[in-house]
Amino acid sequence: MGKTQPVMALDDRPMWDSIAEGALKLQKCSGCGAFRYPPGPICAECLSMESEWVAVDGGGNVLSWVVFHRKYFDDFPPPYNAVAVRLDEGPIVMTNLIGDPPEGSWIGHRVQLNYVDHDGRRQHAARIVDAG
Ligand SMILES: [Zn+2]
Repeated sequence: MGKTQPVMALDDRPMWDSIAEGALKLQKCSGCGAFRYPPGPICAECLSMESEWVAVDGGGNVLSWVVFHRKYFDDFPPPYNAVAVRLDEGPIVMTNLIGDPPEGSWIGHRVQLNYVDHDGRRQHAARIVDAG
């Protein structure tokens, strides 16, 4: 049984709370509209300290991917994968691909974030939604 839990930073809690509720919210600058991901206290674009939390659709495309065949953590027995997904709204999130992986490269495939329970904690995971 895994025990790995996210490391909570000062500005992360609204994001993790939204994931627990099954919809990803990301921090968006109230000054210029840029998303701040990972969450932070100051906008890297305009230096505003004001922000709001906005739900994103969860659609995006695989930007990069890897399958790990070596065990680094007891909670993640190999093989497991990690994918970088560029959301339609712009931010790049790291997640895992669930479901059958595509043949060949995963880059560019259309995905949709789903919400799955892992060791009693909800997390997002990407599922391929195009035909390849
Ligand atoms: Zn800004």
